[in-house]
Amino acid sequence: MDPFEIQLPASVRFAISRLESAGFEAYAVGGCVRDSLLCREPNDWDITTSARPEQTAACFADLRTIETGIQHGTLTVLVDRDPLEITTFRRDGAYADNRHPISVTFSDSLADDLSRRDFTVNAMAYHPTRGLMDPFGGRADLSRAVIACVGDPSTRFHEDGLRILRAIRFSSVLGFSIAPETAEAIHTCKHLLANIAAERIHVEFVKLLCGISAVPILREYSDVIAEFIPELAACFAFDQNCKYHCFDVYEHTLHALEAEQTRDPVTRLAILLHDVGKPLTYTEDSDGGHFKGHGPVGVELSNRILHRLRFDNATIDAVTRLVDYHDRSFPAEERAVKRLMQKLSDRDILRLMEVQRCDRLAHAAPYNIPPRTLTEIPRLMQKIRADGACLSLKTLAVNGGDLIALGMKPGRELGVLLDALLDDVVEGRLPNERDALLEAARKKAKKE
Ligand code: ATP
Ligand code: MG
Repeated sequence: MDPFEIQLPASVRFAISRLESAGFEAYAVGGCVRDSLLCREPNDWDITTSARPEQTAACFADLRTIETGIQHGTLTVLVDRDPLEITTFRRDGAYADNRHPISVTFSDSLADDLSRRDFTVNAMAYHPTRGLMDPFGGRADLSRAVIACVGDPSTRFHEDGLRILRAIRFSSVLGFSIAPETAEAIHTCKHLLANIAAERIHVEFVKLLCGISAVPILREYSDVIAEFIPELAACFAFDQNCKYHCFDVYEHTLHALEAEQTRDPVTRLAILLHDVGKPLTYTEDSDGGHFKGHGPVGVELSNRILHRLRFDNATIDAVTRLVDYHDRSFPAEERAVKRLMQKLSDRDILRLMEVQRCDRLAHAAPYNIPPRTLTEIPRLMQKIRADGACLSLKTLAVNGGDLIALGMKPGRELGVLLDALLDDVVEGRLPNERDALLEAARKKAKKE
């Protein structure tokens, strides 16, 4: 058996054989070939073919097709509900603004198509009977675990600046090193990222940040990261000058990231940004350096960074909240945990505990031991949930209507009264029972 044999999914085999029965060539190509050879589950299966888009469409006239990028030759075909991207062999013309080819020419040659692809490990195609097509030594680079451009790195980066970020993204995710010439060109061409749409940077950056080798990449290519997060540059080599820290701000951040195990993008973004407010808030006295208010300043900077990189509101909200809370300590007491649960979702509380754990581990000894509260708080949270404790007006045993029935007027005061009752319940001063709450409401109303 061919040692490089790849088990193609049935939908891919079906699509290839349909195209070939109609007289065209077709191959699985790119990331799916790379991942299969690495025994990793591919994200998606792409097919490249000599058929022109309208010929591909005709081949699959009986199936649902979506004209995703028809001007670039891409048609998405739904085979057994599996979306397959089928793209015509292409040769890219000259590039404009370091990002888009001015023209795309369809080609009859697989070699043309593979030569326009970014890295050798991404420039392989696979055919069920003809086997692996690998004109640029992608197989060899896979086994040496190297990311190298197809062709001259600087030329390829000038064609499309995003490839700079893709190179370090693949290095981070796959744990590969970067070939010396490619690495050098990444540093010298990094300014080209200025021409790239924030949405494209966003996608690659999140993958980079969650990769197994994110920390060494963020260290070695900090100058590249600073191209799109210049706010971080102030943290590089910023001496903290205090006994709690043995690393500069950026190194501390990287050590905290190193400790992060969940690989959750929100948690990792929060760790990356948790101390971004430090350089702007630095003061010094006889005790050394201080960073009073670095949390709120960090929130402001994080907000700006994440908006600029087009993160969605839910992510921005969660990350900035974690940055805001990262430096506060919370006692492992039921009431305090309930208060926290009113402000953060359960998921964000778990993330906060992880941010604080990693932050602590990256401090100087003996301040680098995470407090026990970080494991006790999630336990208490579970108990509070299991008890079905009332934490919001939604589960309070009385509502506005009940109070109106008692003769109170609708309006702001009624809202204040309900909040006060909720407070009493959360603090344990009142049980969450209708009669007791109505009685308390009557008393409170009388007092006012
Ligand atoms: P992932 O596992 O993240 O999907 P991938 O390698 O499949 O990785 P895609 O962005 O899905 O990456 O692109 C599919 C293929 O298209 C790549 O493997 C590569 O051959 C080619 N490609 C993608 N982006 C570029 C680019 N900017 N320049 C050149 N080739 C590219
Ligand atoms: Mg892909």
